[in-house]
Amino acid sequence: MINFQQLPPAGDLNASKNRLKYCAQQALLKHAISTAFNGHSDGFQELVKAHLNLGKQCQDTGLILSLNAHIWGSIFPLLLYGSEAQKQTWLPALLSGELIAGHAITEPQAGSDVHALTATASATDAGFILNGHKRFITNTPIADVLLIYAKLDGKLSGFLVKKTDGGANFSDQPRVTGCASATMGDVILQDCFIPLERQLGKTGAGGMMIQNALELERAFIFAGIIGIMQWQLEQVIKFSRQRQSNGLHLGANQAISHKIADMQCRIDTCLLWVNECARLKDAGKRISLASAQTKLIASEAFLQSSLDAVHIFGATGLLEENKMLGLVQDAMASRLFSGSSEIQKNIIAALIGTGAGYKGKA
Ligand SMILES: Cc1cc2nc3c(=O)[nH]c(=O)nc-3n(C[C@H](O)[C@H](O)[C@H](O)COP(=O)(O)OP(=O)(O)OC[C@H]3O[C@@H](n4cnc5c(N)ncnc54)[C@H](O)[C@@H]3O)c2cc1C
Repeated sequence: MINFQQLPPAGDLNASKNRLKYCAQQALLKHAISTAFNGHSDGFQELVKAHLNLGKQCQDTGLILSLNAHIWGSIFPLLLYGSEAQKQTWLPALLSGELIAGHAITEPQAGSDVHALTATASATDAGFILNGHKRFITNTPIADVLLIYAKLDGKLSGFLVKKTDGGANFSDQPRVTGCASATMGDVILQDCFIPLERQLGKTGAGGMMIQNALELERAFIFAGIIGIMQWQLEQVIKFSRQRQSNGLHLGANQAISHKIADMQCRIDTCLLWVNECARLKDAGKRISLASAQTKLIASEAFLQSSLDAVHIFGATGLLEENKMLGLVQDAMASRLFSGSSEIQKNIIAALIGTGAGYKGKA
């Protein structure tokens, strides 16, 4: 297991960049990547173990979010949809952490509803002109390149936009309070020209690319977060043994010990789900249903356990410097990123043949 004791401390934008780079230098990005790209050629089970270990050691949901945006938002779309030339151009630097990336789907007026996206790309002889406004994009202020989704001839498509491209503004505002160490910001594209070779995937493949990226993100982002939940539980158990009430340690009260037992059950349930996604991926099977279920169950579990942890700590849990309070905000954010809990339920309902999308006979 990698030792993350030397992880650079969290702080400003540079610190966020260095922390992500450090993870790459510790070979964290090599899991489920073939040796052709200097990866370990192992499977998703190994990736889950490595992320779990990182989460437990760093206890930083922001770093986990940033890392996952880089992996599922840029590296995997390049692996799945890139031409040989694109893979050779981008993957070595993305996998080594020399370049940082992410993906930009959300817009100020379009979050859950990807059909409402309005960013556009228009073709010229030499490339594309992009216009649009993206919001809440993880890694934007530290990204060298972002995979941006825009409509070309009315069809959703993917484009690799560099921070240095004329007409591209990668900002560091606005940002949300949860997952504080992950950087975030708007991307504003004003007649931003990019050359032909920076279209990723075919014209119109954007919807499928987003779906694949989000399925992977939903399946595996909680591997790291479960590591944080394990650390959270350890702290709660320690506190419940030390803190005295009516001459007994806190955990002697069934009302407290049952909450702690629930926290343990949630961790184990989430772990079963994430491992199930890894098992399916390693067997070459679809994860559409399992990843939506994992995201829904794990984000709700993370929130409930974080609320329980703060409660068990009493007022100490509400001290600003207490990590338990920050985890509640992180958990609130986790119910939204990669698609909200309601959207996961919509997906699950549709996949089992019911919900608003069902048009067939009874
Ligand atoms: C920490 C963080 C990081 C993020 N990183 C990225 C990123 O890297 N790239 C990116 O593109 N985006 C990113 N996002 C944006 C994220 O994808 C959106 O927040 C999410 O899709 C929800 O969109 P919204 O916030 O606009 O809410 P809305 O879509 O406006 O939804 C508002 C509320 O209504 C509910 N709702 C909406 N539609 C339905 C429906 N059809 N049925 C039932 N309920 C519904 C939602 O669940 C939510 O509770 C990030 C968000 C956060 C919080």
